[in-house]
Amino acid sequence: MSHLSPLLGQSSKVCVDHGKGSWVYDNQDNAYLDFTSGIGVTSTGHCHPTVVRAVQEQAGKIIHAQYTTVTHEPMLRLSDRLIGYMPGELNSVAFSNSGSEAVETALRLVRHATGRANVISFHGGFHGRTMAAASLTTSATKVRTGFHPMMAGVVFAPFPHLYRYGWDEQRATDFCLRELDEIFKTQTAPGDTAAILIEPIQGEYGYYPAGKAFMQGLAERCRQHGILLIADEIQAGYGRSGRFWSLEHFDVVPDVVITAKGLASGFPLSAIAATEALMKKGYPGSQGGTYGANAVACAAALATLDVFEEESLVANARYRGEQMYQRLSVLRDRHSWMDDLRGKGLMLGLEIADGPDQPRPDIAARLTAAAEAKGLLLLRCGTSGQIVRWLPPLVVTEAEIDDAVDRFDAAAKELAPTL
Ligand code: PMP
Repeated sequence: MSHLSPLLGQSSKVCVDHGKGSWVYDNQDNAYLDFTSGIGVTSTGHCHPTVVRAVQEQAGKIIHAQYTTVTHEPMLRLSDRLIGYMPGELNSVAFSNSGSEAVETALRLVRHATGRANVISFHGGFHGRTMAAASLTTSATKVRTGFHPMMAGVVFAPFPHLYRYGWDEQRATDFCLRELDEIFKTQTAPGDTAAILIEPIQGEYGYYPAGKAFMQGLAERCRQHGILLIADEIQAGYGRSGRFWSLEHFDVVPDVVITAKGLASGFPLSAIAATEALMKKGYPGSQGGTYGANAVACAAALATLDVFEEESLVANARYRGEQMYQRLSVLRDRHSWMDDLRGKGLMLGLEIADGPDQPRPDIAARLTAAAEAKGLLLLRCGTSGQIVRWLPPLVVTEAEIDDAVDRFDAAAKELAPTL
């Protein structure tokens, strides 16, 4: 009997022994194509030799050089290097361990910097499971239910979910911006609003891009009212959408970028970036923790950037993403219960539904289980688990995309007569 807490259930039955590139292997050496990437984390694939080498070398030098006591080379080098990737004038980086922690870092900073309390977040956004991050999250009630009341000072605005509304982009954008303006008149006056927090491409709710007009409308309102714009790039950033930051699809420069997941190829590391002038407005001693910017994690992050540059991973995400979209759209047209296919680059969601109001999580669950039996690992998301999510590593090859879609196709064909 396992003594592992049932609180942390697993979506697959696989017990992983080792991994390489896009593949993981169990202890009987069964191979699985890993199109989950540990929830969008292993961008350089499993155990990329460049990352492994950097980690091994760093582990022999110093592991824990506590970052509010001393500095260390990998952290200093990483902050310099990350700045080269940041949009606009963002020139200062603060590290922590997880996505949720980085969201909280950003929240404290914007409250300090503006002297305002409220934050506007969006329907369907996911920002984490710690109390403040969960208070900013509405991807599904499972993240919030049973432990209300949540943190105060959060207002939710509509996000242009085209599929759910059944509207085109123009109509959804106009509606959402109009509602946002109404929120400023009814729920949080601009002078009480510290920040607008958004995933430019929503992940957990089901791979909805915000759209250019919507993002620009937000940036415009932020400028007008002295509100800070925070981009949660934890899942969509670091190349996954086919651009380094998903914001680049929308020509918007935020005040704060939050990153994690793909940053360190699986080592726990997260960061926020802002201008130094903004960072200086945070209260001294209000941020930080015991483990942030771990030296081995920072070495892994530096090696991750080496791999990104040497292997052109962002471009690969773009091309392999197009291939994956094309291949999946053929399947989608073949089965009536495969509905909308959305996302950008290597972050796609396939709705298993008979329409926006008739999700079929039952079929989605059988599909992912059948795919697993054929050696393909996939996750689900959406409010009822009706969306199959496609998150291969950014090193994925053309042949591996074909292989994964073929396995999924075979699983769908097997299931179809039983539905
Ligand atoms: N923001 C986004 C957009 C995410 O996708 C996630 C994780 N799925 C988080 C925040 C929270 O990150 P973590 O699980 O590392 O706390």
